[in-house]
Amino acid sequence: MVSSCDIVTELDQLEGEMLVCIKFRLLLFLFLFISYNSFAQDYLEVVPQRGEGIFSLLKRYSLPSDSSYFNKFVELNKKNLTTKNDLIQDRKYKLPIMLLLFDGTTIRSSLGIDDYNQAKLIQDYNNLMLDRKLRAKSFKQDNILWVPIHLIEEQQPNKNKSEIYQEIKQNVVTDTSKKTESIEKLKKINENKAIKGLNPLFFGTKYKTIDKVSNRLLGFVYYLDPGHGGIDPGAIGYREGNELTEDEYAYDVTLRLARRLMQHGATVFMAVIDSTDGIRDDKYLKNNLNEYFGDGKPITGDAKERLQGRIDYINTIKRKIPEDYRQRLIVIHVDSRDTSQRIDVFFYHNPGDEKGKKYAENVMEMLTIKYDKAQPGRGYTGNVSERNLFMLRNSPVLSIYIELGNIQNYKDQQRFINPTNRQAIANWLCDGILHNDSPKVNITIPKKKQIKKKAK
Ligand SMILES: [Zn+2]
Repeated sequence: MVSSCDIVTELDQLEGEMLVCIKFRLLLFLFLFISYNSFAQDYLEVVPQRGEGIFSLLKRYSLPSDSSYFNKFVELNKKNLTTKNDLIQDRKYKLPIMLLLFDGTTIRSSLGIDDYNQAKLIQDYNNLMLDRKLRAKSFKQDNILWVPIHLIEEQQPNKNKSEIYQEIKQNVVTDTSKKTESIEKLKKINENKAIKGLNPLFFGTKYKTIDKVSNRLLGFVYYLDPGHGGIDPGAIGYREGNELTEDEYAYDVTLRLARRLMQHGATVFMAVIDSTDGIRDDKYLKNNLNEYFGDGKPITGDAKERLQGRIDYINTIKRKIPEDYRQRLIVIHVDSRDTSQRIDVFFYHNPGDEKGKKYAENVMEMLTIKYDKAQPGRGYTGNVSERNLFMLRNSPVLSIYIELGNIQNYKDQQRFINPTNRQAIANWLCDGILHNDSPKVNITIPKKKQIKKKAK
């Protein structure tokens, strides 16, 4: 549905209180923490001063000299300690200080955290290290944040320390070379990790494995934006006593598309992510409020802010993507019209955007071919038109906007409530994207419809 929220002329004000489920937010944070927000989890390495022991070294770096830090230090540096846990001269040691990428905006957006005080503590710590000349440049200059592990841990109250350490350990980049790492090298590691994209765990247990189909989309980044979410369900349709909400169905198709694109080697980011729902094979998708912006921030504020949050997220990621990657935004909604009106999948592009227009037309052509094959004689009547929409207008990358059908119409609903149909649409959209971004040389898509196969 393209509602006032998408066009944003008169802004709706939120009614009532925001409902935020803290538990799910924490879960989501953990998810994000172990996925792309943990781009660089290497530890700071230092050579201790002559005569220094573990406690004095920790103290010099203003780290808590409690047993957890001591134990962590021992765990990180086992090979370089004597049996009495003494340091050996001129060896390098890892401190329990994680090196994380600063994205050039705020500490909160860099680390995917909401807590201002926590961000302030991290900032103060980095400034202190600079004042003490323990670091040569400020984090704003070299884009590396020094984050003592207890400052990150505080966001994870439902985990005990050993579990957290386990997670951190799993994410550590093991550096086999003996070379002194330079900030440049760390940055490179960050970049490579940054382009990993969506954690497949978000697809749910059944779909978390990504079976590779091809590498045709290597070097492409897709920002997928399922419409609405959180407190905003979007359009609502009804069927057999069930409420069909736009955000859930758009989300499921978008997740399926995400997975399909990744099977072809693409890097995918979801502008909106659900902390509990993976890909679902149910007919009726229960509405919930667990959708968040891709960085885990809550979808709050007025209609414009709920869209701006998506654009902000995309911009934050985009800064971390190397320039030779080609990037696209695919927005997916479900329309709402009179119950009697059937509509096929159709497309919008930003007015005057010839590239977006061509891109949408190519995806539509692919759908024409797919429908003809799957349902000969049905006829597919999608269309591409221009429309001044917030997401298209503000997208920093090539963008198209897809409406999947009329959520009120009984026949159109078949396209959404049947999970096989949701998968088919996602596959076909992916094929349309492949046709745009990585066309097979020997296959040309005819302008006119192919000769139809005999109907069964
Ligand atoms: Zn919508």
